[in-house]
Amino acid sequence: MPGMDELFGSNVFNDAVMQKRLPKDTYKALTKTIEDGTQLDPQVANVVANAMKDWAVEKGVTHYTHWFQPLTGITAEKHDSFISPRAGGKVILEFSGKELVRGEPDASSFPSGGLRSTFEARGYTAWDPTSYAFIKDGVLCIPTAFCSYGGQALDKKTPLLRSMEALSTQAVRILKLFGRDATRVTSTVGPEQEYFLVDKKLYDLRKDLIFTGRTLFGNKPPKGQEMDDHYFGSIKPRVHAFMNDLNQELWKLGILAKTQHNEVAPAQHEMAPIFSVTTVATDHNQLTMELMKKVAERHGLVCLLHEKPFAGVNGSGKHNNWSMSTNTGYNLLEPGDDPASSAQFMLFLTAVIKAVDDYADLLRISVASAGNDHRLGANEAPPAIISMFLGDELTAIVESVMNGTPYSSHQKGDLEIGVSVLPKFPQDNTDRNRTSPFAFTGNKFEFRSLGSSASISDANVVLNTIVAESLKQFADVLEDAEDFQSKLHELVVSTLQLHKRIIFNGNGYAPEWVEEAKRRGLLNLVSTVDAVPYLLEPKNVRLFTSHSIFTETELRSRYEIQLETYAKTLNIEAGTCLLIAEREILPAAIKAMGALAKTVNEVKATGVASAAPAKVLAALSSRIDKLSETIVALHKAVESREEGDALANAIYEHDVIIPAMNAVREVADDLETIIGKEYWPMPTYADLLFNV
Ligand code: ADP
Ligand code: MG
Repeated sequence: MPGMDELFGSNVFNDAVMQKRLPKDTYKALTKTIEDGTQLDPQVANVVANAMKDWAVEKGVTHYTHWFQPLTGITAEKHDSFISPRAGGKVILEFSGKELVRGEPDASSFPSGGLRSTFEARGYTAWDPTSYAFIKDGVLCIPTAFCSYGGQALDKKTPLLRSMEALSTQAVRILKLFGRDATRVTSTVGPEQEYFLVDKKLYDLRKDLIFTGRTLFGNKPPKGQEMDDHYFGSIKPRVHAFMNDLNQELWKLGILAKTQHNEVAPAQHEMAPIFSVTTVATDHNQLTMELMKKVAERHGLVCLLHEKPFAGVNGSGKHNNWSMSTNTGYNLLEPGDDPASSAQFMLFLTAVIKAVDDYADLLRISVASAGNDHRLGANEAPPAIISMFLGDELTAIVESVMNGTPYSSHQKGDLEIGVSVLPKFPQDNTDRNRTSPFAFTGNKFEFRSLGSSASISDANVVLNTIVAESLKQFADVLEDAEDFQSKLHELVVSTLQLHKRIIFNGNGYAPEWVEEAKRRGLLNLVSTVDAVPYLLEPKNVRLFTSHSIFTETELRSRYEIQLETYAKTLNIEAGTCLLIAEREILPAAIKAMGALAKTVNEVKATGVASAAPAKVLAALSSRIDKLSETIVALHKAVESREEGDALANAIYEHDVIIPAMNAVREVADDLETIIGKEYWPMPTYADLLFNV
């Protein structure tokens, strides 16, 4: 095995490689382009492309692809080889600047939410030089943004890049007021990725896992997660081998895989990388999910990234640890230790508090999906109500500032912004308050509502943009202030007072919180269909258009796609549910009934009085009837679908299809408990969860 030095980033055309392989002036021009976000000179692009190709070819690569992130939520690639014909039936390997910078995939089949009709199908991909090119499966991958010819974003990368820009612009304005010389601010993210591993042979016997990523049938095994013996438990050899292999693959791609452990549910695990710039973290998380699936197969396993693969045991999420840092090396959510830094910290903290309160609906929408609807609010993940946890210490500080009251444990007197130094508060390690969707954890915020399979782009586009908006409003006020200190104090105090309702340190699972949140006027958007319509609220359209993140048309297209995806997911689930119930469970149950009926007669013939077989037979028969009724009802529900607009379609799935599917499942799961093991047509939860 090569040493870490050799391994880490070995498949990445990173800064070190560029420095080594590019002529000095090319390297300089490229770095400038990356830093300023300007257009790359075609001459420079040619040189870079050629160096990239030579580097890749030395590693045995023959193809390249523009790697992009369409609105399917996964990544897309189309491979082209480097070959170019030459006289005499020969070829040479070529890669031009033009090919590097721009691609034209025939991408008419990607979701566009009506932005691009098929007759003008050709979108284009454009190199995003802020992400390094890399080699995956022997193909040189160029990270790109994907747009329509009208320049409209068709992907998850473009708005993310725009939101990074917006955040930087506004944060730099604020920093200037504090006399800082930072010229760029980037948000940073460390996403903790949860997943399940199941045996491939068992997986192959479950059509529901194959088609929908989750089980549509199955009872909780006698032992689940109640003993808390899996969380941080010793890792089984097969899982360990998988993790080692995965780490190697991730490290080769320069992904900072750091922490791995067992999660709460049996067969559930987590991997957390060291944080990086949000755009890079987003690319890396997509690659991580892809590699988890690929590497699992090598070990005879399947990696399930669905938010709720199994009913009755915890599902999987993705904690999005988020902060902002300057190009001068400061984390803006790190409480400082002099009055100016303390004031600056309070201002950025206040900006986040205001942002989350003003745009809680957008945060909720950014994590809304059919899969994640199973988790949020189900006492295993944060509630659907967005609130913020600050911890006792920081809350006390905020209250002291807000009310102008003494901060007792620290000093006599008020905490005055710009004058006082904030006390050092412990990184709230008691913060195992996992019930909060949005928690301050010492020097960053942890947004915990994301689903495990989602691209983290959506949530971070929202986070970057809403914080940019708070900062913009603050900068507008402060830049005009005659007395900066007093204006700053006034601004922080009045903003905190206005938005304190969003702060909640209590138990988010408690039913009282739902009531309390309602009293506070906080939204409780329980499902995707409740949440997504808020995307088009005038205040949200204004937010995204004013920061040039989305045009109104782009926003509408995302609205359509999110609802369409929801409806399609449930379409597939309903079809799969019927397939399994009708073709597998019902026949198995009838077969079991036939065998039992025969036994009942045989027992009767012996003259022995035995009630049990007949009783089980009766129970079986009535459940079979019920199953067949629920199947008919689901069929009817499916056939009664009418094509409406995207919202009406999604609501139909939510209101009609889900209850009909649940009814089928309820009877089928009941049947599972009385049918002999040899008749049951698929691996059970016990088989799936305890066989790795
Ligand atoms: P937990 O207790 O939730 O496991 P950790 O302290 O292990 O939290 O960190 C979780 C994640 O937060 C890691 O990915 C880590 O790199 C990331 N993180 C730490 N600092 C920052 C930061 N400034 N910005 C973004 N993410 C960060
Ligand atoms: Mg965490």
